[in-house]
Amino acid sequence: MDFFDKLGDRLIEVGREVSDRARDVSDSTKMQYEIRRKKQELDEIYKDLGRKYYEDNKDSADDQITAIRETLAEIEEMEVKVAGFKGGRRCNKCGAVVPMDSGYCNKCGAKLDDSIFEDESEDAKKAEDTEETEEVTED
Ligand SMILES: [Zn+2]
Repeated sequence: MDFFDKLGDRLIEVGREVSDRARDVSDSTKMQYEIRRKKQELDEIYKDLGRKYYEDNKDSADDQITAIRETLAEIEEMEVKVAGFKGGRRCNKCGAVVPMDSGYCNKCGAKLDDSIFEDESEDAKKAEDTEETEEVTED
């Protein structure tokens, strides 16, 4: 009986060790998940900080600021083109691309009347002129 008692104790002990290890593994998995989540949070904070820094230093000659400025300009240029392809137009107030038949900007809520549309046409014409000039230069 003594032997079986000891065996029983040992089995309980082994069971406890196994479950301790399982708990460690699951704690470690949880912690790794937590670490990933924290790093993502940190990335978001860095991004916000970067945006804020950019807003405060827009005119700086810093390489990264310049890269952001150029990328934003490229995006804007493409958005104007896409708006044109889609038969849309851009809101004069916030720059959002909205369908041509929209009465109001779906981003900022500005009223899109015909005077805005006329401005947009001029912008589109200007963009075309620039394109033509570029083509001539290339030839
Ligand atoms: Zn808008």
